Amino acid sequence: MSKIAPIALTNLTTMRVGGVPKSILRCETTEELYKSALAALNSDEKFQILAGGSNTVFADDVSDLNIILVANTGIEVLEENQTEIELRVQAGENWDEFVAWCIERGYAGIEAMSGIPGSVGATPVQNVGAYGQEVSQVITSIEFLNFESQQVDLKPADFFEFSYRNSALKRDLRGVIGFVDFKLQKLGGLSIPMASGQITNHVKAPYGAQLPLNLVRETVLELRSSKGMVVKDSDPNSVSCGSFFTNPVVSHAKSLEFPKDMQKWEMDNGDIKLSAGWLIENADIPKGFSLPYSKAAISEKHALAIINRGQASSKDIIELARYVQERVAARWGINLIPEPNLIGF
Ligand SMILES: Cc1cc2nc3c(=O)[nH]c(=O)nc-3n(C[C@H](O)[C@H](O)[C@H](O)COP(=O)(O)OP(=O)(O)OC[C@H]3O[C@@H](n4cnc5c(N)ncnc54)[C@H](O)[C@@H]3O)c2cc1C
Repeated sequence: MSKIAPIALTNLTTMRVGGVPKSILRCETTEELYKSALAALNSDEKFQILAGGSNTVFADDVSDLNIILVANTGIEVLEENQTEIELRVQAGENWDEFVAWCIERGYAGIEAMSGIPGSVGATPVQNVGAYGQEVSQVITSIEFLNFESQQVDLKPADFFEFSYRNSALKRDLRGVIGFVDFKLQKLGGLSIPMASGQITNHVKAPYGAQLPLNLVRETVLELRSSKGMVVKDSDPNSVSCGSFFTNPVVSHAKSLEFPKDMQKWEMDNGDIKLSAGWLIENADIPKGFSLPYSKAAISEKHALAIINRGQASSKDIIELARYVQERVAARWGINLIPEPNLIGF
């Protein structure tokens, strides 16, 4: 466990906003993580768990906040047979490096989630997903320190009530994750059946095809880069939290109120997911839009991403987000829900 001299959270978040916190404690083992969180819980101090900072927007003044930085690493094989492997991955491992590591070894189930920034331990929080895959499909159990009971528990995936971009951890279950257990498939270097038309169309394969794992990764990275969804110093459209709003989910009956040609996806339970990007662009907020004198903007590559064009304050980001919410509510009667965690506002 090491105390780092407090630096502005612009340096520890992909949105590059946020003031200087009171303290930053970097935890390099799971024990350190639990110990630091317990100590913070039993003090009067405000604290926040932070890992890769790719889904967090901090306020400009966080001078009363103590940051617990998740930096525990390690991948362990729990069980393996001819067709499956179970892995235990410490929370601070980088997610995309873990995906690449699995692809190199022929483990399938997370390949379409290539290029998502951040840590392994944050993926269950909002049930990270992309291109037809979600982490909840491959998580078997999670060890976490439950802030209510103050006990460390290894709980099965069901316990976390995963749904689209949501889990009990995002709602009301408070705790810090130490490690995540995954079960992946060994399919001779092939992916699981692809549930994304964007991927299969791109490589001219039928929907549901099993593709070479490397091809899936290359395709996804290409598709994501074209939308500014891979964090790169060279891409100003990637200075963001990815999608700033979740796609709203409505009943089938409600979805009939929207134009036939708008982007929508049917969910397993029959509900309909509407494209938040479409709603934004069709509320007269084009890609690249910015409020006067603001350094925040809608990405030029993706209507759903709010970006920091350089030196934006948290206030700039939040003002633009509110403007988008108001315009979409007025035009479409839909309340867009922010996806990132907004801290200190
Ligand atoms: C360019 C870009 C593209 C993105 N694309 C996608 C995408 O395709 N799909 C998607 O789902 N997301 C996407 N995201 C969002 C983000 O990458 C994910 O939510 C990611 O899992 C966040 O990881 P992190 O380590 O950066 O989390 P942080 O921002 O550090 O934390 C996020 C939340 O998780 C909590 N948390 C972090 N670690 C732990 C832990 N060990 N225990 C308990 N709580 C913890 C934090 O307290 C915070 O509330 C994208 C972001 C960016 C910038």
